[in-house]
Amino acid sequence: MTSVPNAPMTWPPSLWAATAPAGPALPALEGDQTSDVVIIGAGFTGLSTAIHLREAGVAATVIEAAEPGWGASGRNNGQVIPTLAGHDPSAMVKRHGEAGERFNAVLRDSATYLFDLVRRYDIPAEAEQAGWVQPVHSPGRFRLAEKRVKEWSAIGAEVELLDRAAVSTMLGSDAWFGGFWNRSGGHINPLALTRGMADVALKLGAVIYARSPAVSIAHADGRWTVRTANGSVTARALVLATNAYTGEFEDQLAPQIASEVIPVLSWQMATKPISDNIAKTVIPERQAMSDTHRELYFARWDANNRLVTGGAATFPGAGGTNLRKPVAERLKRLWPQLGDIEFDYVWSGYVGMTPDNLLHPEVPGFPRIHRLGPNGFAWVGCNGRAVALSISLGRELARATQGVAIDTLGLALSEPKPQPFQPIVRRIARFALPLYRRLDAREI
Ligand SMILES: Cc1cc2nc3c(=O)[nH]c(=O)nc-3n(C[C@H](O)[C@H](O)[C@H](O)COP(=O)(O)OP(=O)(O)OC[C@H]3O[C@@H](n4cnc5c(N)ncnc54)[C@H](O)[C@@H]3O)c2cc1C
Repeated sequence: MTSVPNAPMTWPPSLWAATAPAGPALPALEGDQTSDVVIIGAGFTGLSTAIHLREAGVAATVIEAAEPGWGASGRNNGQVIPTLAGHDPSAMVKRHGEAGERFNAVLRDSATYLFDLVRRYDIPAEAEQAGWVQPVHSPGRFRLAEKRVKEWSAIGAEVELLDRAAVSTMLGSDAWFGGFWNRSGGHINPLALTRGMADVALKLGAVIYARSPAVSIAHADGRWTVRTANGSVTARALVLATNAYTGEFEDQLAPQIASEVIPVLSWQMATKPISDNIAKTVIPERQAMSDTHRELYFARWDANNRLVTGGAATFPGAGGTNLRKPVAERLKRLWPQLGDIEFDYVWSGYVGMTPDNLLHPEVPGFPRIHRLGPNGFAWVGCNGRAVALSISLGRELARATQGVAIDTLGLALSEPKPQPFQPIVRRIARFALPLYRRLDAREI
């Protein structure tokens, strides 16, 4: 559990905290308030829900333990990716039937939906809809790219199969063997987007309380009541938008949801600004890139010629110190022209994993979207891929709270299934890394 000081929050030492415009000044929750919908968590999901409710003229109150964007939404790599990490459309349909088909359509359109939201409200989020590419790290994995292109083009996504030469031109590196290309993706400054969304929600008339951890949720007489140390909000409907950070501030807030997700620390790093003449040889068209390694390779440019990348370590050291050398060496291997790289920023955040096979806790699973009770909803399990999805799910969750028929929404609902071994798996997840490295290296 994280303790919350009354004032001001400590931000992770991230590139985004250093560069995003300041967020709005927000009050803490005091006293007993009412609303039509109460939302817990001010990340992309919670703020998108609030924006869509206010666009429909519905009263919305957001309760945030820290500040908007303090969770995954302000710490991520900012890659806007309209796919799941582990599963393709057919797997979603197999699991959820027609609801899976509707979910796939929401996911397919989610990147463009995000960029349209940024354009509609003119949010200063350094948004670049330059596309997203998933290069394959072994010749055998090319079959995965072929399958992905086939499945996504069958449902109308803007995707393309790239051969080795095309990927080499797109990324400025010969390290990969082809790839999956989605034109609608791209990247953003995620904290700038979260804070911009908080501004939009406020301008539309939402109420947002910060530095106010919710400590309990109760449903009685057709109303939800969310309590904090100094107040409460009672409302007809509830959206729990705490995702991988559920349980971070109050472990009894929603234990059935918290125990489904394994928060895995993901390390992010931003280089010093790189000179123009070298930058234009590395991902020259500025796509976002994350590849097929189990130990993911990923990178994108920020607005000031910094490469934003990251890595994993079994023992990352204080502040991720042990990652600086191996990640610099990896970048140099991929793009020798970068030379000796130095990092100005190293930070971390929790990715919410929902492994479907507990022997492989770091293999991405399905997202879990649940009904908590009458007019109450939650979702967890971004599996490192939900910048775009969480904003679209916010729209769907907002509609669900308004009584829109569930079977018309892109919500593939399931029942919460607490994982009894979650605390153990959570502790040992990082020790799987050496195994993943060996498996990655062995692939042909
Ligand atoms: C390091 C990292 C890199 C990532 N990179 C990418 C990427 O490049 N592309 C991609 O698509 N996805 C990425 N992701 C995943 C993506 O960031 C998340 O899927 C997305 O931000 C989830 O948004 P959210 O609003 O659902 O959750 P969050 O942004 O985590 O918001 C949850 C909020 O709930 C609050 N909260 C928790 N408990 C309480 C409480 N008791 N009371 C009140 N508030 C509470 C938290 O403070 C937090 O602000 C990454 C994630 C991480 C951590």
